[in-house]
Amino acid sequence: MIATHNPGKLAEMKELLAPYGIEAVSAGELGLGEPDEAGNDFRSNAAIKAIAAAQATKLPSFADDSGIVVDALDGAPGIYSARWAGPSKDFTAAMTRIERLLQERGATTPDKRKAHFVSALCVAWPDDHCEQVEARVDGTLVWPPRGTAGFGYDPMFLPDGHTRTFGEMASIEKHGLPPLGLGLSHRARAFVKLAEICLEPR
Ligand code: IMP
Repeated sequence: MIATHNPGKLAEMKELLAPYGIEAVSAGELGLGEPDEAGNDFRSNAAIKAIAAAQATKLPSFADDSGIVVDALDGAPGIYSARWAGPSKDFTAAMTRIERLLQERGATTPDKRKAHFVSALCVAWPDDHCEQVEARVDGTLVWPPRGTAGFGYDPMFLPDGHTRTFGEMASIEKHGLPPLGLGLSHRARAFVKLAEICLEPR
């Protein structure tokens, strides 16, 4: 059971789970409500979502809480990354807001525009135990946004060591999973850690 209502994350998680032969249903497909993400950090919000789904469905439930942390904005939007896009989920507006704040703070050169994505993953089992991991990917924010692949803040995020933003990468490259890589995106890196703990390749 994948505890998300976010279609972008759902598609990525299904891709990440596929090599393990795991068939997944999502919270959206089962018509489950969205619990209040009342935690103070990514880790606790992932646990809130996974535990609520496991209790409601009695299925092993997998949740991600993620977001983008911008150094020059004192870590904002962080756990509020989804909320910055508002009810209409307008990420062009959210990226424009980040850019406006960076300009106001004089963050115009790459060294002042450092950011990282974080992914906290939690698997909650029906017997109430949980497995949790967290990972990040570091990069620089570019303006204007580049590319139409991915979702959310991808078009303005240039991962370190690369010349193309996540928005310009096909998902296989964004995740950098074996055999092509060892995990590039925050979600793929967290996923590799989680798989070591509780999944076996088919
Ligand atoms: P939440 O985990 O549902 O609270 O939402 C996290 C938000 O962070 C998403 O809606 C995106 O805006 C942003 N985000 C998380 N991961 C990614 C990513 O891989 N690419 C782009 N944006 C992301």
